[in-house]
Amino acid sequence: MLEGFERYPLTFGPTYIEKLEKLSAHLGGKVELYAKREDCNSGLAYGGNKLRKLEYIIPDAIASNADTLVSIGGVQSNHTRMVAAVAAKIGMKCRLVQESWVPHEDAVYDRVGNIMLSRIMGADVQLVDEGFDIGIRHSWEEAIEDVKAKGGKPYAIPAGASVHKFGGLGYVGFAEEVRAQEKELGFAFDYIVVCTVTGSTHAGMLVGFAKDDRQRRVIGIDASFTPAQTKAQVLEIAQNTAKLVKLGKDLVEDDVVLIEDYAYPVYGVPSEETKDAIRLCARLEGMITDPVYEGKSMQGMIDLVQKGYFPEGSKVLYAHLGGAPALNGYGYAFRNG
Ligand SMILES: *Cc1c(COP(=O)(O)O)cnc(C)c1O
Repeated sequence: MLEGFERYPLTFGPTYIEKLEKLSAHLGGKVELYAKREDCNSGLAYGGNKLRKLEYIIPDAIASNADTLVSIGGVQSNHTRMVAAVAAKIGMKCRLVQESWVPHEDAVYDRVGNIMLSRIMGADVQLVDEGFDIGIRHSWEEAIEDVKAKGGKPYAIPAGASVHKFGGLGYVGFAEEVRAQEKELGFAFDYIVVCTVTGSTHAGMLVGFAKDDRQRRVIGIDASFTPAQTKAQVLEIAQNTAKLVKLGKDLVEDDVVLIEDYAYPVYGVPSEETKDAIRLCARLEGMITDPVYEGKSMQGMIDLVQKGYFPEGSKVLYAHLGGAPALNGYGYAFRNG
């Protein structure tokens, strides 16, 4: 589906699919859980899902003759860390707007983890006192203008690399990769579980899995706590991406399965149940999930298994999208393990 699009390689290649034997058994053994390790997809600054998206955006940035990548996220944004890494790798400058999306407990929250890595990689990091919003932001537009005013040539990458004409392509590729891996494994997955916030990961999967009519088997777990906006953004990106790749089918609102029950108390803050899910997965599988994203989708997957949402015998693929560096900003929450 992606033959006509240029891709700048930033990842190692197809990501590993691992069976979560102990977690499956712990939850009763009626459902087989697997993880596709997008968190281990690259040697660029710990990797993660944003690199798959950026592979289809970077050729456009290079063609535009830009000299500075400009992007935006929360203080502990994984996305801005990935943009900083890519800028370093391709020899561009990087300007990052880091907004106050998350109320936090740790005194060093803006010194460790993702933001520290971005600083080490040479990004120009600007802290801005604005709250959480997945849409296009004023502070980001100002940063773009500021780069221009100083004689630079900015290339703008929106939050999460989502609302960009090529933002959905990377996860169309994920679905194609899963189909190829299923041939080797000798079975197909019944469900794919994905954490959803700015939407292009989920949207790309919808387009990719619509090819064999599995889009409603993609179970989005909302971590934004603004699910109406997230759901609308997923649908819009999916519809635009479907046209772009000439899917030949329309995607509709009912194709976006977004479960809203696990994002509480708010974006970026883990509930007790999210922390329990992080601990359980870490203690049974040695697989690290974070308090902002994957801990919430892990909590969701565990709860859905326990509630019998997946019929007995189902094979469920958890897309592990990365995010562990943010844990460094949550030392207080895990002070006792
Ligand atoms: C960005 C991110 C997500 C959410 O992906 P979207 O495409 O923004 O919906 C999930 N997990 C991690 C670790 C992320 O960095």
